[in-house]
Amino acid sequence: MKASALKTFCFTLERIEFFLKNIKEIIEKLSTTQILSKEEIILLLNIDEDSATPLFEAANQVRLKYMGNDVHLRGLIEISNHCIKSCNYCGLRKENINLTRYKMNKNEILNSVNIAIDLGYKTIVLQSGESNVFPAEEIVEIITFIKEKGLAVTLSLGEKDNDVYKLWKEVGADRYLLKHETADPTLYQALHPDMSFAMRRLCLKNLKDLNFQVGSGCMVGLPEQTLASLADDLLFMQEIDVEMAGIGPFIPSPNTPLAHNSTGTVFMTLKMLAIARLLMPLAHLPATTALGTIHPQGRQLALQAGANVIMPNITPVHYRKLYEIYPDRISLGDKVKLDKLISSLGRTIANDAGHSPKMKLP
Ligand code: SAH
Ligand code: SF4
Repeated sequence: MKASALKTFCFTLERIEFFLKNIKEIIEKLSTTQILSKEEIILLLNIDEDSATPLFEAANQVRLKYMGNDVHLRGLIEISNHCIKSCNYCGLRKENINLTRYKMNKNEILNSVNIAIDLGYKTIVLQSGESNVFPAEEIVEIITFIKEKGLAVTLSLGEKDNDVYKLWKEVGADRYLLKHETADPTLYQALHPDMSFAMRRLCLKNLKDLNFQVGSGCMVGLPEQTLASLADDLLFMQEIDVEMAGIGPFIPSPNTPLAHNSTGTVFMTLKMLAIARLLMPLAHLPATTALGTIHPQGRQLALQAGANVIMPNITPVHYRKLYEIYPDRISLGDKVKLDKLISSLGRTIANDAGHSPKMKLP
């Protein structure tokens, strides 16, 4: 090797060593303090596969210490795919006229709830596009039924007036899932021509003030998304003190303006999850369906990088096909497979409702 090449080589090695030492220090600091600057988060998001193992291991340790070995199962019922919004990434957007729209009737929903009970699930998540096909009062009846059966209720029905959120809380809804999608206001505006980040933030604040356990979250790999904006996503969720953080890859959906963009990567999603666990040790973190859709081991990898929740889809199959936010969604209806997946990782299925551990804090 020529002297100049040798010099460059040694310099590179030195830089790598410095970088790795830095990373190690950041991870150690984060495991104990839960404080990280935006620059430090960006540094962690930048690490390559060879250096990421300590990050995933630290997240797994913190998950074990704060959330234990239990995996919480939340039965997801997609009650309608009607939507009045135009989110550029989503197959349910109102402009998609190629989609047959549906609304489950009350009996169909109650049947799905009973199936969830038979499967041993302790939480029902009611999700839909954003629309008024379900008047607030109809949701009240469904919440009341589920609460009478002794299950926890999570709603994921989009942005609503505070009065509506209040009504649903008063009749017993426990949690609300409203992902902020991206904390980058410019990107948010570009993706949501008919919405605003300020309104999203206000809804999340209203839900918090009403004492809902609040879930938010973001997509990873959106077009034009930078590492700085991903760092902001994590800091935003830490700032509003979410009880749950749903972090999944963006998957391009046909019949949307982003149909030809690229999919978010498994690796970046796992790094986001792991850092989320270190920043928010008491937050529930789902191993998302989106991650399982882009990688056959996606959910297993997530459960080993900080995640502790799975949301099996219990929507009747003929409707599930129509809830096409993105294509080829996997579903984990098969309880035997799910049990195997969880036990193969040395984990257990929770037998309580899995409320936020923060609710028990003084
Ligand atoms: N209408 C409600 C809930 C249904 S959409 C709402 O918007 O809050 C549920 C989630 O699907 C959204 O929060 C979004 O993060 C996710 N989603 C939609 N399109 C997606 C895509 N193409 N790739 C990955 N996730 C997507
Ligand atoms: Fe509608 Fe939600 Fe899809 Fe936006 S993300 S188009 S609000 S279903």
